[in-house]
Amino acid sequence: MPTYPVGMASPSTDLLIDGERVEGAGAPLAVENPATEETVAIVGSASEEQVRAATAAAVRGQEAWSRIAAAERAELLHEIAAGLRARTDEFAALMTSEGGKPLVENADEVGWTASAFSFYAELARTQIGRVIPPVETHQLAMVVKEPLGVVGAIVPWNYPLLLLAWKLAPALAAGNAVVCKPSELTPLSTLALAPLFHALPPGTVQLLAGAGEVGSALVQDPRVDGIAFTGSTETGKAIARAAIDRMARVNLEMGGKDALIVCPDVSGEALQIAAEGAAWASFLNAGQVCTSTERIYVHASRYDEFVAAFVAYTGTLRIGDPTQPTTDVGPMVSAAQRAKAAAHVEAAVAAGAELLIGGDRAGHERGHFLSPAVLTGVPAEAAVLRAETFGPVAPIVRVGSVDEAVALANGSQYGLGVNVYTTDLETSIGLSRRLKAGTVWINDPLTDNDAGPFGGFKQSGLGRELGPEGLEAFQETKHVHLDPRIERKDWWYPYGR
Ligand code: NAD
Repeated sequence: MPTYPVGMASPSTDLLIDGERVEGAGAPLAVENPATEETVAIVGSASEEQVRAATAAAVRGQEAWSRIAAAERAELLHEIAAGLRARTDEFAALMTSEGGKPLVENADEVGWTASAFSFYAELARTQIGRVIPPVETHQLAMVVKEPLGVVGAIVPWNYPLLLLAWKLAPALAAGNAVVCKPSELTPLSTLALAPLFHALPPGTVQLLAGAGEVGSALVQDPRVDGIAFTGSTETGKAIARAAIDRMARVNLEMGGKDALIVCPDVSGEALQIAAEGAAWASFLNAGQVCTSTERIYVHASRYDEFVAAFVAYTGTLRIGDPTQPTTDVGPMVSAAQRAKAAAHVEAAVAAGAELLIGGDRAGHERGHFLSPAVLTGVPAEAAVLRAETFGPVAPIVRVGSVDEAVALANGSQYGLGVNVYTTDLETSIGLSRRLKAGTVWINDPLTDNDAGPFGGFKQSGLGRELGPEGLEAFQETKHVHLDPRIERKDWWYPYGR
């Protein structure tokens, strides 16, 4: 029998298709509480027929939704944002029960989710294209932005509502209908969104559940005009391959191996703060953030002091029940994710690295707990310095120069984000230009801004979310060339007049 955390009503397990709440007719998904390993709920996946019904409803819904004026669509998106804010505690509790992220981080996530809806509500009603200089002065030439049509939004488990909102909010704002497919590990918070869409035309938003095969069926449905995806690089490539056959648009946010560089000019109190910031960037959401710091490069002149401060601070973190407001680090999402991260630690130690702290179960018999691990002396070829770990593991590497740190940071198949700590303006400007990543944060790790684009270089992705770029990802571009006169043009036949 599913069990719910104390005080929580049983969560809805219904899908949303064509404005109706329906049970999933496909394979059942058992949703696990990562802190207790108990089953929170059983959710029926969408059957193939339900995926087809969802995309057919979205085609109809999109017609109705796109006929609503942008200013009115903006009001409806603001109502969704208000609904989210009003139910912050409920959504946060649900996300903690299915994903294991500490309650305080999930409450933040709900706020950021609402913020994305507010931002795109306003952006979309002011941006429909532009007027450009025409070829002849009496003409009117316009660049018009139109909705793609039906968008499939496929998201992972680490930020289930936020990463959905980065797709759903701009896609809706641009006039699209959306079929949403949350991770099989965290469907409940997404399904709980259903009441927030009651004022939208039926079919505007569909909420499905299911694993990769449901996502794959969605990608292959010819009625889906664009896929917006966040997840692993492997899955992103599979989606891109499937989409290219019919030239469906893709916007892909994929894996990362973000570096954090500590420059030699950082000392004293600033070095202590850099150590705390680096620890937060490494261990936030148990290291399960696409932009988690996964490699720390510290200049030799600051190395010993930084490592000591980092380890001491890590030792103060409270690991445990994610429903408690004083818990800093909760469990990882699943046994498989924990095993992968723990294997990176074990392989590094076997190859000669030193584990300075963490890497154990922090005294928990149940739950997927991995206490934040700090490694030094890791050989360059170890997986923990090359492949995505996606867990609370911080390898710290001594470098002889800032140039060496830049070369190591850039020497990756990924290019999502890089963090830098420096007090020197010239170093800040220089590194912001030389680092090959979609985001460079200087002295403020991992902070998002709805107004700025988010995404990756190289194998970290294709396209951008957030900012105006995140709206354009869901728009087709049309050039309208309008001549109000019907007249023969000099450049037609016959030539040589
Ligand atoms: P995943 O790729 O396994 O799954 C992501 C989503 O894709 C899930 O909903 C899954 O069911 C679905 N899916 C799986 N196979 C599919 C297929 N063949 N066709 C269509 N959909 C399919 O990733 P995950 O384990 O859920 O998430 C962790 C990964 O996400 C990490 O690699 C992390 O870096 C990445 N991530 C990236 C960002 C970013 O913005 N770049 C943000 C968060 C997470």
